Amino acid sequence: MTTTSAKPATTPEEAVSATGGTSPRGSAETFDSLNPANGDVAGTYPVRSAEEVRTAVARAHTAAAWWSALSYDERGELLGRWKGVLARRMGQLGQIVHDETGKPHGDAQLEVVLAIDHLAWAARHAEKVLGPRRVRPGLLMANQAATVEYKALGVIGVIGPWNYPVFTPMGSIVYALAAGNAVVFKPSEYTPGVGVWLAESFAEVVPDHPVLQVVTGLGKTGAALASSAVDKIAFTGSTDTGKLVMAAAAANLTPVIIEAGGKDAMLVDEDADLVDAADAAVWGGMSNAGQTCVGVERVYVHERVYDDFVDEVMKQARSVRVGSDAEANVGPITMPSQLAVIKSHVDDALARGARALIGGSDAIGKRFVQPTVLVDVPEDSLAVTEETFGPTLTIAKVRDMDEAVDRANATRYGLGGAVFSKKRGVELARRIRSGMTSVNSVIAFAAMPTLPFGGVGDSGFGRIHGPDGLKEFTYAKAISRQRIRPPMLLTSFTRTTKTDGKVAQLITLMHGGSSTIPKR
Ligand code: NDP
Repeated sequence: MTTTSAKPATTPEEAVSATGGTSPRGSAETFDSLNPANGDVAGTYPVRSAEEVRTAVARAHTAAAWWSALSYDERGELLGRWKGVLARRMGQLGQIVHDETGKPHGDAQLEVVLAIDHLAWAARHAEKVLGPRRVRPGLLMANQAATVEYKALGVIGVIGPWNYPVFTPMGSIVYALAAGNAVVFKPSEYTPGVGVWLAESFAEVVPDHPVLQVVTGLGKTGAALASSAVDKIAFTGSTDTGKLVMAAAAANLTPVIIEAGGKDAMLVDEDADLVDAADAAVWGGMSNAGQTCVGVERVYVHERVYDDFVDEVMKQARSVRVGSDAEANVGPITMPSQLAVIKSHVDDALARGARALIGGSDAIGKRFVQPTVLVDVPEDSLAVTEETFGPTLTIAKVRDMDEAVDRANATRYGLGGAVFSKKRGVELARRIRSGMTSVNSVIAFAAMPTLPFGGVGDSGFGRIHGPDGLKEFTYAKAISRQRIRPPMLLTSFTRTTKTDGKVAQLITLMHGGSSTIPKR
């Protein structure tokens, strides 16, 4: 990622004041976060050094000991109070999101709203998902009682992106906290103010223990967190940076979750509601200026409805308004270097015979990109194979839905996707190689706290959200307790050959007779 204007601080106190004491003190260097709509400075924050990251992680370990010793109810109470702060001040947080990313106020509010809902679910369900539960000991160990529970790992390092600076990192942060961990959060250099606001608001409800800290800075600060003494890294960002994070974490055998990029496809079947499907394609591809990891980038449409679908998409795409005024649906490109990526994908497609039905090369300005719809795009061009991360769509005609599935799956990514079909929606969704698929809607899975979120292939691994997301920040703890002395003691040198014979008889009786495995 390119850096913003890193520069020496005027005084260390100024640098510290930006984080409100939720981070270690004393950074001498700062950087600016800029409003991408106009280049104004939105805030100035410390560049945290490796030493400061180490200090934050050490403090977090102490805080984690306190936080994990609380009961689920006690943690739930504190998380509930934080939820209240977020809900009451969502306008304030939304304003920072708007200033740092340029996205419309409504979109900024939406991601805060969804994060609050996830927080509420995680806090409410942590005990049910993670608390001790009895399991069957099995016939051979019938004298034992067995329980499994999921214990907090300790300190989680969360490294976040800028495109959804609240919703995305909170998908890790709130599940990690609800599971009993402390968190050290490195926000993107484009959205440090959001990270600081989150840590400061948490510190209002938990003032005496640094359970959630923020370390602002550039890529190096993230690298320092990845190689620090955290117990797990939850990384969200590009696939390339994910590989660096994983390599750094490997040195300490630190486990990682990688939530990386995507190239999600939408499938439109011949019986689909075309107005709804077009609405979903246009919103899924162009909202947030296309800077959505689970945004729609490719559309595969049954040949029988292709022309009607394209007409409908064009009708809707023409009414998408790009800008920074109150009426705009779509804001600027947040990370300036992404403009060149978007242009290279569009130019490559056009040079190879694609047609832009709306937008095109001229649609890419200095800060804003107008909606662009490309057809006749070769399947091996950049606009189809690489993550574009702009308000662009490629639309391709397919013979049938088998071809649509094959083309959708012909990617190294596997994050989300959507299917529009009245009869075959769920069947087609199951055949798409990705972590999440919405049927007859778009990105709906991300808004449901009960569903896991994450990808396969170059989109990463591990899951946030839902029960899987809670377990991701824990380790399974198995406990067996002997209730009565066993008739045959297997785990002792006193075991006799007679016992071995009886065990062999028993196991043959249990498993020798049939090749099928009965369900219990
Ligand atoms: P980047 O990979 O550039 O950065 C992600 C985070 O990693 C930032 O905080 C960045 O800091 C930090 N970082 C940079 N270098 C290193 C390093 N060497 N070690 C550790 N951390 C480092 O991604 P973007 O911020 O540009 O985010 C966009 C990407 O995120 C897209 O590919 C998108 O698809 C993906 N994404 C995936 C999601 C998912 O859930 N699967 C959700 C949202 C986005 P800094 O900003 O200071 O460079």
